[in-house]
Formats: sequence, C-alpha cells, structure tokens
Amino acid sequence: MKLTIIGYWGGYPAPGGATSSYMVEKDGFTLLMDAGSGSLSKLQNTKPVMDLDAVILSHYHNDHVADIGVLQYAWLVQSYVKDRQEILPIYGHQEDQDGFKSLTHKNTEGVAYDPDATLEVGPFSITFLKTAHPVPCYGMRITDGETSIVYTADTAFKEAWYDFAKDADLLITDCNFYEDQDGSSAGHMTSKEGATIADKANVKELILSHLPQYGDIQTLVKEAEQYFTGNIQLAKDGLTWEKSRNF
Ligand SMILES: [Zn+2]
Ligand SMILES: [Zn+2]
Repeated sequence: MKLTIIGYWGGYPAPGGATSSYMVEKDGFTLLMDAGSGSLSKLQNTKPVMDLDAVILSHYHNDHVADIGVLQYAWLVQSYVKDRQEILPIYGHQEDQDGFKSLTHKNTEGVAYDPDATLEVGPFSITFLKTAHPVPCYGMRITDGETSIVYTADTAFKEAWYDFAKDADLLITDCNFYEDQDGSSAGHMTSKEGATIADKANVKELILSHLPQYGDIQTLVKEAEQYFTGNIQLAKDGLTWEKSRNF
C-alpha cells in the first residue's frame, strides 16, 4: 500500500502547486482521495488519468473537488482516444445533493458512501469519521488489512480522532494553522493539535498537510515535534510513503 501526495495546500494552491489530493495504490489498484485545484495536472506527472480506478471525496469544498470537472472531461476525451468505455466511480457523501449530483457525468458515476458503514473499494476497506468543519466532511481510515492510513481531511480538533486513528501506520493531518493560531472556527487544526492526535493515538508516522501559504512552513514541523516523538514530515509534491519495514 503506497501513498503519493498529489496536492497539499489548504484553501488554494501556491504557484505551481495543488490543493488536497492523495493517491493510494495497492496491487495495481489506484484510488484518489480528494481532487483539489491543480491535482489533475500533478496527477499526470505520476500516471495517465485513465489509470485511476476510483476517486473518493471527503467533502465538497472547492479545495477538495475543484478538479472533478476537468477529470470528467479528461476521462471523456481519453475514452475516445483509447476507445475505452469504462466508468470511473467517484465516491462521495450525500449530505450535499448538488455536490453529489455533480459527480455523475458521461464517463464518471457518483456513488454514495454510508459514513456509518465500512466501504470496500478494490483492495481497500475504508471507515469514516465526521469531522468538525463548517460543511459535512468525513475523515477516512483506509486499510489493506496490513497497513492503515488515516486522513483527517478538514477538521477542527476533536478527541474522537484519538480512537479513530488508534495505532495507524500513518496519520495525515489538517495542519492549516501554526501553533499560536486558533483554527477552530474555520474548522481546521494547528500543528500542535495534529501532533497531539498522533501522540494520543499512538500512530507511527505523521504527515502535516493542508498547509498555509504564509509563514515558514518548516516551523510547523518544529512545533509538532514538541508533542509527537515519531517521524514527522511536511507534505510536499510527489512525496511517497510506504510502511517502514522497521515496524
Ligand atoms: Zn473544507
Ligand atoms: Zn480544505
């Protein structure tokens, strides 16, 4: 099970960058988690767009779904070019009907997930946690039976993450704010809050993501290190992660 960071900026992409989007692969199956602004361009640095097997969305804010429309056009064009007529499933919740309906297009189909159930997608089992955010949003725990990755998507701090992320191999946190800021009303976390979850949940590694476009983002790592002693990385373009054999 391999994770590749496609986009990681919060809110809008920095020049040449992309907002939230993460690719998870196992045994030739490719799942894209969120499809933020700039992600379709970045994704194609890694693989052809029709190599995607499924997409899953945490919520319908633009910095997580901005490239769904162009992804649909890409599948339409490539279907003609390659004379392939597969349908790409795009999983989303149904608490935003306009958002959900927009997932279905000529070569893509919106598929509702039940946040209270385990979703099976290819080799992956996915469970959900409703986050603390201004619109309905779901964090995800994705496992292939051997490795577990937890993605908080967009969330303010809540203690429910401690159990949800328990013993995960990797935690990817919303780190839209520096330690001395308060992200709670915006529905985001600070470096300290994400690292505290990593510590309390006993995860093995932490990636800080959904990053701010201001300040020195390396500071976020130094702040997080005060609260979590495991390996901490800043999200960056093309960063890949696989479970360390040391554990
Ligand atoms: Zn959001
Ligand atoms: Zn966001």
